[in-house]
Amino acid sequence: MSQTVTQTGIFHRSLNKNYGLASGGDGVYLLHPDGSRTLDGSSGAAVSCLRHGHRAVIDAIVQQAQSMAFAHTSFFSSDPAEKLASFLIKQSDNAFTKVMFLSSGSEAVESAIKLARQFFVAKGEPQRVNFLCRKYGYHGNTLGALSAGWNPQRRQTFEPLLSPAFHHVSPCFYSRDGGAGEPEEQYMSRLIEEYEELFQTLGTSSVAAILIETVGGATLGAVPPAKGYLQRLRSLCDKYGALLILDEVMCGMGRMGTVHAWQSYGNTIPDLQTIGKGLGAGYQPISAILVGAKVHKTLQASEPGLPFVSGHTYQGHSIGCAAALATQQTIMKDNLLANVMAMGDLLSAELRKQVPLLKEVRGRGLFQAVEFATLPHIKSLAGDVSRTSLANGLAIYLCSSAVDCVLFAPPFTIREREVYEMVDIFVRSTKQVIEQRG
Ligand code: PLP
Repeated sequence: MSQTVTQTGIFHRSLNKNYGLASGGDGVYLLHPDGSRTLDGSSGAAVSCLRHGHRAVIDAIVQQAQSMAFAHTSFFSSDPAEKLASFLIKQSDNAFTKVMFLSSGSEAVESAIKLARQFFVAKGEPQRVNFLCRKYGYHGNTLGALSAGWNPQRRQTFEPLLSPAFHHVSPCFYSRDGGAGEPEEQYMSRLIEEYEELFQTLGTSSVAAILIETVGGATLGAVPPAKGYLQRLRSLCDKYGALLILDEVMCGMGRMGTVHAWQSYGNTIPDLQTIGKGLGAGYQPISAILVGAKVHKTLQASEPGLPFVSGHTYQGHSIGCAAALATQQTIMKDNLLANVMAMGDLLSAELRKQVPLLKEVRGRGLFQAVEFATLPHIKSLAGDVSRTSLANGLAIYLCSSAVDCVLFAPPFTIREREVYEMVDIFVRSTKQVIEQRG
């Protein structure tokens, strides 16, 4: 793939670098103007869960654009928004009773934080201003979401953010932080103790919510909750009257092989849940908050005097909702979650078998992280491996510098031979980097 002088100012990466142009898509590949192609091994950032050029999604977008592009949600809902909300509620076995659609994961997290605050104002507990989150969590780049997250690189320039309200406990990372021979349950209880202490220090009635990613994604790479962890957080929230907010923007909507990631880890139902990325498969920018009955009923009852004043112009966009509905219907109709599990198992097994200098492959379904081991003379491989893989025709997601780790999150439609191709390029690229390091 040739590099082009880009003038769009890709501010989130580097203004001093040139980028390859993606000019088309074909199945799980991105196409470039010079005729080369890249296997999209991480669906960008766990977004493109369907292949490119999916007819049903394209048709839904075109049909909606032809009938009505935009109607402001201050005045109207739309047919696709209502159908998508019903679909998501039914698909979640009524764990949620209302849905709010937004355009990005950050917007969804930001609005979930505000919804939680408003819930307690409506309940007559306005002193609940604190949010308990996790170190190395990632929830987005807007100020509230960035304050809830804890990635030093992303935060440092903008400190102090909205810090007073956000408090961070240790991440849940048993395979790394569990003491030698420490049983998982004991490790998990240690972490719960940290939350308990924070509740006590801040005042149990000052905490609005625990807000975490169900499975840690962008920063640490596919880190699952320890056994029983989510259930214990649910109990803690119930004990102290706080809300449980699960951020599944990256790990949710089928990526782990279940619709919601929490369904893979003991069925702990949150009060609020954020989703995005795979919701619309990247065909349109769309995210959502799934709202449980407790929050929805309180807000509804208080609404005459206290409406939720938090509108975004493009929230509930009808074309986004149409694309997401077609995406989600396709995932169910084509039984793609079975493929997510089958291809995820194959990917994980092949990575374990073939990757040199491997510390750990972790994850579930098509959310698999590879962490490299450290040798005295070879450290920090992931950055070079992801750059070399890209040069060799495979895009994979580089996690933060807190771990030497990359993330595989290919489309749910990936086929066996594409999994082998992906592993082959990755292993070849890793060997190339190790050789260069001498
Ligand atoms: N929450 C999580 C868990 C994420 O991984 C991300 C993005 O990576 C976000 C929120 C923010 O989403 P967006 O980039 O769409 O604003």
